[in-house]
Amino acid sequence: MDKPVLYIVIPCYNEQEVLPITSGLFLQKIRDLAAAGKISGDSRVLFVNDGSRDDTWQIIQRLAEEDEHFEGVSLSRNRGHQNALLGGLMTAKDRCDVTISIDCDGQDDIDAMDAMIDAYLDGCEVVYGVRSKRATDTFFKRFTAEGFYHLMNWLGAGIVFNHADYRLMSSRVLDEFANYKEVNIFLRGMVPLVGFKSTSVYYERAERIAGESHYPLKKMLALAFDGITSLSVKPIRMITGLGVVVSVLSFIGVLWAIIAALSGHAVAGWASTVCMVCFMGGVQLLCLGVIGEYIGKIYMETKARPRYIISEHTWDGAEK
Ligand code: UDP
Ligand code: MG
Repeated sequence: MDKPVLYIVIPCYNEQEVLPITSGLFLQKIRDLAAAGKISGDSRVLFVNDGSRDDTWQIIQRLAEEDEHFEGVSLSRNRGHQNALLGGLMTAKDRCDVTISIDCDGQDDIDAMDAMIDAYLDGCEVVYGVRSKRATDTFFKRFTAEGFYHLMNWLGAGIVFNHADYRLMSSRVLDEFANYKEVNIFLRGMVPLVGFKSTSVYYERAERIAGESHYPLKKMLALAFDGITSLSVKPIRMITGLGVVVSVLSFIGVLWAIIAALSGHAVAGWASTVCMVCFMGGVQLLCLGVIGEYIGKIYMETKARPRYIISEHTWDGAEK
């Protein structure tokens, strides 16, 4: 069997400080793996420029000119990490046998790729990179991340604990994945749904080499919310359950009021009335909010807009 062609797929958003450093590390990894006879020498590093406002795309183009192992595609505007990664993977899948997705900031241990490729050569089609320690993340990030993974699993979305988007996927898996057409994507939750033989590889997450995280709390919450609502309808079911409980309680309350009234103990209950009205109002607004969120998702999905638009490739010399 021919050696597999590997594509390392790397979404980049405003990474001009990081790229010159990490690009060399990725190239070296490809060279080492090829020298060890594990992958083909035709393997490539594919950068996806996610509508960066700095010189990221110029750097990618320069890298591609300097070394044939570098390639790049540029999205027409910023679409976010998940869409950029999808764009890269879908571009790569027709050009290679196996992909590894990784962030460009050097936080994920590049050397874990050796074990990933070994697992692939052993027949695994998906290999999840799992952080064994999160010592470099803040306590807050660790705490919220942990809560999030537990919540997701409880909601029935079987995501791999402490796995982000550092992952090996064969092009066969990506061909199947291409059939998942939803617009709201949360890759780490969707990939396990495709199936195929999979395993995990453990590594320690390091500090960002340079630049700053693009995932402030607001984006983290948005990603978590998208993850939950695009993978689980449990919140809607819980609302139904809550509705039933509240209805039963209200019914008992009404019965109680009627009995009290009939037996002459008329209720002078201003306080209880106000409490009840407020409580009901709160519950109803909450429920409407969650249902509205799902309806919003349905609305977005029915439009079926493209998830990313590639405006340029480094290999077709398209005009800038
Ligand atoms: N990224 C992207 N588009 C965005 C935000 C981030 O392509 O809108 C890329 C970014 O360049 C990096 C990866 O996604 O390669 C992860 O982002 P970051 O390191 O900022 O997130 P963190 O590691 O802090 O979760
Ligand atoms: Mg990072």
